[in-house]
Amino acid sequence: MATLLLLEHEGGAIAAASARALTAAVALGAGVDVLVAGSDTAALVAAASRLPGVGRVLDVQEAALEHAPAEALAMLIVSLAPGHEALVAAATALGKTVMPMVAALLDVMQVSEVTRVLAADTFEHPIYAGNAIETVQSTDTVRVLTVRPAAFSAPSGEGPPAPVEVVALPRQRGAGSEFISAEVTRSARPDLSAARVVVSGGRALRSAENFAKYIEPLADKLGAAIGASRAAVDAGYAPNDLQVGQTGKAVAPELYIAVGISGAIQHLAGMKDAKVIVAINSDPEAPIFSIADYGLVGDLYEVLPELTALL
Ligand code: FAD
Repeated sequence: MATLLLLEHEGGAIAAASARALTAAVALGAGVDVLVAGSDTAALVAAASRLPGVGRVLDVQEAALEHAPAEALAMLIVSLAPGHEALVAAATALGKTVMPMVAALLDVMQVSEVTRVLAADTFEHPIYAGNAIETVQSTDTVRVLTVRPAAFSAPSGEGPPAPVEVVALPRQRGAGSEFISAEVTRSARPDLSAARVVVSGGRALRSAENFAKYIEPLADKLGAAIGASRAAVDAGYAPNDLQVGQTGKAVAPELYIAVGISGAIQHLAGMKDAKVIVAINSDPEAPIFSIADYGLVGDLYEVLPELTALL
């Protein structure tokens, strides 16, 4: 029995987070069926069929799924559960909404934010805001997993085209929610969850104008994604989808630059797996320095323009 992976797509392209989740799905060792749902999916299905490790593409052409209403997707995944021993999605906003519904409908336990696959039924994932790593063995007949994208690399290359099977959407009861509109942030910057370099700003930026004025030029020079602490997001300096941390995104870039961020445990939960951490903070006692590989004690309003000019 294979693993079923929910393949998210954005603007006609496979989401980077789902590509990374495919690596985890392949590691389960049972072969992977990927589920592509939406309207006008032909190009996506063709791309999905060539992803290395994909054994079959399940194509659900259904306009009603275009905006991925969670309830409808959950019921679709449940209808495909027979014949699959694991149901997997990336731990994105969508995956984190759909998969708990799937687990509840199947009456099984979800394993959330898997960071390592040890065996088909045994996984590692962080608990207590990333302060402990738990190893879990699932005894459920169908395993429902969300996968932390930052913990896996995207598969490289192409495989031979996998067969495509067109699947009909099962008749559904009223889904309980309907699509009204979407406000999508479009950015030329790399996706925060998958970026190689992240520059993050904290409360010390003091305003949205300063955030843009000081953080963006450095990020531009480094080709980096922009992140923010929750304090910066709550104060309106940066949009919500840039929040890094326990209640934001988990990132594991090669380089993470934290500017004017104190290093609260909830922020560290989202970025401590970065390979190199640079902290810029005026307080030499700031907790961020305890996990930083390089620390710069100074006023960001002086240090950042100088640093940016040097690059
Ligand atoms: P502060 O803690 O206020 O730190 C600002 C830093 O800027 C200080 O270290 C200061 O020395 C420095 N500074 C000030 N002026 C300058 C200057 N001119 N130049 C250089 N440095 C300067 N937080 C998150 O980030 N992500 C989360 O996902 C998250 N989830 C949470 C979940 C829960 C349940 C709770 C309770 C909290 C959560 N938080 C989260 C909030 C977290 O506890 C902190 O409040 C938050 O991370 C602080 O943000 P900050 O570091 O920007 O601000």
